[in-house]
Amino acid sequence: MANQRVLLASRPTGWVAENNFRIEEAPVPQPGEGEVLVKNLWLSLDPYMRGRMSDAKSYVKGVDLGEVMVGQTVGEVIESRHPTLKKGDKVLAQLGWQLYGVTREANKVDEKRAPLSCYLGVIGMPGMTAYFGLKEIGEPKAGETVVVSAASGAVGSVVGQIAKLKGARVIGIAGGADKCRTLTDELGFDAAIDYKAEDVKAALARLCPNGINVFFDNVGGDILEAALANLARGARIVICGAISQYNNTTPIKGPANYLSLLVNRATMTGIVVGDYVPRWGEAVRDLAGWVASGQLKRREDVVEGLETFPQTFMKLFSGENNGKLVLKVA
Ligand code: NAP
Repeated sequence: MANQRVLLASRPTGWVAENNFRIEEAPVPQPGEGEVLVKNLWLSLDPYMRGRMSDAKSYVKGVDLGEVMVGQTVGEVIESRHPTLKKGDKVLAQLGWQLYGVTREANKVDEKRAPLSCYLGVIGMPGMTAYFGLKEIGEPKAGETVVVSAASGAVGSVVGQIAKLKGARVIGIAGGADKCRTLTDELGFDAAIDYKAEDVKAALARLCPNGINVFFDNVGGDILEAALANLARGARIVICGAISQYNNTTPIKGPANYLSLLVNRATMTGIVVGDYVPRWGEAVRDLAGWVASGQLKRREDVVEGLETFPQTFMKLFSGENNGKLVLKVA
């Protein structure tokens, strides 16, 4: 039995390339006192990992060269020296891009409540981001218009469906006709805009004649600017991410028309999901309940094999994933 690990080999300039990573074999680590040895079953692939490949100052330190790439994992405890976790438990942990890892910080998850991969998606970190971003910052009311970008992805697809549950009218922005069809035909969005084929600013003006009340932004750049041009009075913009800017070699493009916030007495507020960890239980209860009742559909894009990790990760930036991107490694 050997471990297989994906290490950060070099820092990307612009787009991530396969040679930024190195895959190596290593001995399976031994758990120390208070630790568990976990065999990973599912690895999460998320856009924030692009930031961790950089050494620029951010709210969390980047990965050092030669270190295992960070990431959330769901796996099975195969050896335990932990006071409460035992062999056979399924756990959510931060073990990164590798087949085996040891940790003292892992949370038991319940396979009967939801399939294991859901703990990385709809009832995991992306689901929490959607839940708290909307509940605490967006605060959509029945009858209001909510617009979400990267709408078919892990966060966006949950944002749109929760907003529908709150009685809002929901418009998603996504790349390509297939993704737009998924939004309206499967996930219950009222309309979708294909930003690769349409003028987003004009489409928003047509679809939101009374303006946007809540804009949940995952993309930034031109799409944020198009939304700012179409705000309703008192609009709330949730800044969740700016994936269109993560591979820039030039400074991030900010909106030239930010004075729309002034004109419309609007707000623009950032969310960091980690701030809501103490309230995780509240969100899991609601999200898992909606999944069980069929009111919240989960979309997952499952790829197999640790060795595919570099190419699979790049799908997030080319838009080739449709739903929460997860890697099945066992
Ligand atoms: P995701 O939406 O599942 O996947 C990324 C998607 O972004 C791609 O499928 C692609 O969809 C879209 N995209 C990529 N490049 C783009 C571009 N240049 N222009 C427009 N769209 C582009 O990813 P996710 O995990 O849900 O994350 C979405 C956003 O939330 C990211 O910005 C991420 O950093 C952020 N986030 C923030 C927090 C927080 O605490 N603030 C937590 C989790 C995630 P299309 O085919 O539609 O282009």
